[in-house]
Amino acid sequence: MLSGKGIQVKAHAKINLTLEVLSKREDGYHNIISVMQSISLHDLLHLVPSNKGIKIYCGHPRVPNDESNLAYKAAEKLLEYTGIKKGVEIRIKKGIPVAAGLGGGSADAAGVLLGLNKLWDLGIHLEDLSSLGMGLGADVPFCIYGGTALARGIGEKITPLPTAPKLDLILIKPPFGLSAGDIYKAYDKMTVDAAPNHQKLMEGLDRNDTTMIVDNVGNMLQAAAVKARPKIQDLVDILKGVGCPGVFMSGSGPTVCGVVESDTMANDIMTRFSHSPMEVFLATTVGRGVCL
Ligand code: ATP
Repeated sequence: MLSGKGIQVKAHAKINLTLEVLSKREDGYHNIISVMQSISLHDLLHLVPSNKGIKIYCGHPRVPNDESNLAYKAAEKLLEYTGIKKGVEIRIKKGIPVAAGLGGGSADAAGVLLGLNKLWDLGIHLEDLSSLGMGLGADVPFCIYGGTALARGIGEKITPLPTAPKLDLILIKPPFGLSAGDIYKAYDKMTVDAAPNHQKLMEGLDRNDTTMIVDNVGNMLQAAAVKARPKIQDLVDILKGVGCPGVFMSGSGPTVCGVVESDTMANDIMTRFSHSPMEVFLATTVGRGVCL
């Protein structure tokens, strides 16, 4: 939303409906295939023009307020790319839990690129914004497009897919974070042969067939995350136990997502976790172009 005082951007979290690890690259990163999906859970960014360079304000204790913040890096990259001499104050209100596998930092970086492109009327195409975001974080290119998309490479090659039907989700975030690097390292030492069936899930998207989508969710990093933090398996078992038709971990974890089919099911799960240290979020899938 544009106003006299700047622009407000909703930076949406992502989940990985599928995630397959293909190979380890020489640079240490991993080639993956993943069907990614934006969800309604979001951070709120307020971008206000300033004549004092780039400034970050974020009250979250685990998010830096300096040039290491991905939102700062995104603004810096855009200024470098365009050569324009402007400044911006970036106020971040976190709604996405940190180090949760929900791409919070990447969402903020993408939100800054999209927001400043609009605020400063730069007219940069999405493909170019996506390339600019590539070096900032693996999920930034996806977050530039949003909606439903296939990610390949290290997550930087994005092919938009038909928008998924609206799914109601419950997200359970344990009281610990996981580092993507650590989980990929643990994965390299394991044998995980159950790859999710992306083709079937994409066929479900083409047919707008919720059951076919939900039946084919899956994440090859889940076994490594469970090995590091067995609590994740308990969460998966609880969600399956109450009858969630699709249960999967997002990204490198630790957040576990379940598809919920009724308010009763959602309430049942919320009650089970009401006296636990888990953070519980209700969300829905969202389509492209909902952040500005
Ligand atoms: P990924 O799956 O890409 O690792 P994540 O969702 O698990 O992402 P983030 O919430 O992006 O994790 O946080 C990862 C790290 O990035 C944290 O240590 C955090 O301090 C740092 N960080 C830098 N900028 C931001 C930001 N704008 N929002 C959240 N975290 C940020």
